[in-house]
Amino acid sequence: MDPINKLIELFSEFPGIGPRQAKRFVYYLLRHNNGYLNEISENISNLKKEIGTCSICFQYFQRKNTNQKLCSICSDSHRDESQLMIVSHDVDLEHIEKSGVYKGTYFVLGGVVPILAPKPEERIRSRELLALIKNRTEKNILKEIILAMNVTPEGENTEQYLTQNLTPIATQNSVKISHLGRGISTGTEIEYSDKETLKNALQNRK
Ligand SMILES: [Zn+2]
Repeated sequence: MDPINKLIELFSEFPGIGPRQAKRFVYYLLRHNNGYLNEISENISNLKKEIGTCSICFQYFQRKNTNQKLCSICSDSHRDESQLMIVSHDVDLEHIEKSGVYKGTYFVLGGVVPILAPKPEERIRSRELLALIKNRTEKNILKEIILAMNVTPEGENTEQYLTQNLTPIATQNSVKISHLGRGISTGTEIEYSDKETLKNALQNRK
């Protein structure tokens, strides 16, 4: 396959990008000089070298060295470990973090559970989440799990799935499970919520 068609094929696999847009990307690249193209390919090949996944919350973060295992939030002793907010994607964490309304810790699921999806446990980091919750309940530091999914059918289904799966361990250890979305209107995506909305949602969580 020639490079044009190969790139069209590769770009078409990006989320939300179809073959027509992919083709536009390729012609956009062709119009640029080598310096620009080298900058893009260099950054792509460094992406996995410089960006790591936090071994506690699983968000992506820029490593200062290859030995660094924890992101800046998980290595910050001032964060309140009694609160664990569960989000679907990195963008949600980033957005809530930027609003500055939350001082607890996070866990990134890395996906959602669509309605009637087979093997829901494989859609998200279920095992890793349970391991983290176990670890914190054994140390007796966890008081509340805050489910912070988008107020969309998929997000609500994910919350339902998590509630079902986490209720036994939560009840056993007197950990409260609350929902951020109950303070946000239907159809709202966390990524696009403003600071006031998030602040109110956090204050009114149930
Ligand atoms: Zn982390």
